[in-house]
Amino acid sequence: MPSKLDQPTVDQGRRRFLKTTGIGAGVALAATVLPRLAQADDLPHLAVTDPTAAALGYTEDTNTVDAKKFPTHKPTQDCANCKFFTAGSGEYGPCQLFPGKSVHAKGWCSAHADKA
Ligand code: SF4
Repeated sequence: MPSKLDQPTVDQGRRRFLKTTGIGAGVALAATVLPRLAQADDLPHLAVTDPTAAALGYTEDTNTVDAKKFPTHKPTQDCANCKFFTAGSGEYGPCQLFPGKSVHAKGWCSAHADKA
């Protein structure tokens, strides 16, 4: 007769199930990534009237940049291909230059730097 110590506990069985099915890794990944995405979606959009944004010429549409004011701007540049942008799940995402705000993926500002 097997002793009680030889029998797997419910916790051990659950761990084995999660390990063999890969669900554990998926759950762990979701627990890490989903809150970040939700957080990014919850961030207020950066207003073009924000003093720092205005000073950098931030716009939500890179096609509206005043070429005379920002002669180095290229139409191919936008927030989505800037190294300071972190893609969210929608059209807005966080920008490292504007903590606590999200910027439009098709936006632009004069601090744009190409992703490596
Ligand atoms: S630094 Fe980059 S991501 Fe941030 S607003 Fe400017 S262009 Fe967009």
